[in-house]
Amino acid sequence: MPHSDTQPCAASAAPMAIPGHIDPVVTPREITPRADGRIDLLGLPNRAIAEIFAEAGLDAKAAKLRAKQVYHWIYHRGVTEFDAMTDISKTMRPWLAARFIIGRPEIVVSQHSTDGTRKWLLRTDDGHEFEMVFIPDADRGTLCVSSQVGCTLNCRFCHTGTMRLVRNLTPGEIVGQVMLARDALGEWPRAGAADLSALGDDLVDEDGGYSADGRLLTNIVMMGMGEPLYNFDNVRDALKIVMDGAGLALSRRRITLSTSGVVPMIARAGKEIAVNLAVSLHAVTKEVRDEIVPINRKYGLDELLAACAAYPGASNARRITFEYVMLKDKNDSDADARELIRLIKQYKLPAKVNLIPFNPWPGAIYECSAPERIRRFSEIIFDAGISAPVRTPRGRDIDAACGQLKTTAQKMSRAELDRLAEEKQAALED
Ligand code: SAH
Ligand code: SF4
Repeated sequence: MPHSDTQPCAASAAPMAIPGHIDPVVTPREITPRADGRIDLLGLPNRAIAEIFAEAGLDAKAAKLRAKQVYHWIYHRGVTEFDAMTDISKTMRPWLAARFIIGRPEIVVSQHSTDGTRKWLLRTDDGHEFEMVFIPDADRGTLCVSSQVGCTLNCRFCHTGTMRLVRNLTPGEIVGQVMLARDALGEWPRAGAADLSALGDDLVDEDGGYSADGRLLTNIVMMGMGEPLYNFDNVRDALKIVMDGAGLALSRRRITLSTSGVVPMIARAGKEIAVNLAVSLHAVTKEVRDEIVPINRKYGLDELLAACAAYPGASNARRITFEYVMLKDKNDSDADARELIRLIKQYKLPAKVNLIPFNPWPGAIYECSAPERIRRFSEIIFDAGISAPVRTPRGRDIDAACGQLKTTAQKMSRAELDRLAEEKQAALED
């Protein structure tokens, strides 16, 4: 966790260094420090909490013990007040509260779709808005998590792609989405309930998650706003806490990271987090992919598929998902389906294909393929022995479906945001 003595989290929204050739990434903004000078512990690993406690004056042993206790309260109990930490002495609690907070992204608006999907518009401490979506199904509940405010890439069919990147989300803001979802779904153990966490990793069952706890939130997909592999360090640090048996204890088998194809980072993702990989393929020829997923001009199809073939843990049990948005007369012909099969076979990829009906948004230049066309496309791929289900659009009525996320605040230009920030500052100084 990069942090300096004076501002522990300030560095973490900075641009990351990406190996290989790449155009400069738009410089995301630094995080504005908290006005009250306190440090938000959310998103810090146990070790970093211990270091900060030691810097604040505790001796090494006490710092380690307190960090362990606080970490447990934060991630197993979901508490946000030091006063609720009953195994920490009554004199110690105000000392902690004076120096630290356990934050949450602020909820600006919460919406409920007729199909049960929920969308939250969230705000960071320094005023940037982003979104998260919860999708309940019969056998699982999936939280779609954002990694950036906006996106530097401009996939032509994606609403988020029309936003400028404001900044990377910090580990705290990424884990914070999972914490908020648990808050909203009422999924923290109640006071007095048996605390199974003492069992540690044994509690994580074969399929991940807590065994027999009946929680609604079972899966996480990094498919909200932003390109997670352009904010790799923060996404990794956040997911490590989500996967930590002493943290949120969700199995990596229940976490999927989706990338538009940042090839140089795929191997690191495999090595350092090893979650399921989804790749936004969307086209099988250079011409079409260059147009609709412009990062293809930098990292072509061959490079991308070779990186997928080398992804650790890619096996039939843990297949790579290829996402394929169905765009009328653009990428949806029988020939496209057959080329997709050929590519998957050429690279010997343990793959499944996820066909996503295009979700429209105001100003989009594409149309969704007809249902019959999507069905035929799916059949051709199934007939070749590759699973190719059609993803049912969820939450369309509240603009929560894939590619529809875009916050109204970000429809403002950078200049307008700067002006607003100046006005806010002036108001504060008055
Ligand atoms: N930036 C990452 C993850 C976020 S997008 C990525 O591109 O993979 C999650 C998925 O939704 C991606 O496959 C994306 O291509 C797809 N998507 C974007 N806009 C869409 C739209 N309008 N309709 C359907 N799917 C869309
Ligand atoms: Fe960014 Fe993904 Fe949208 Fe492309 S599809 S613009 S990478 S969020």
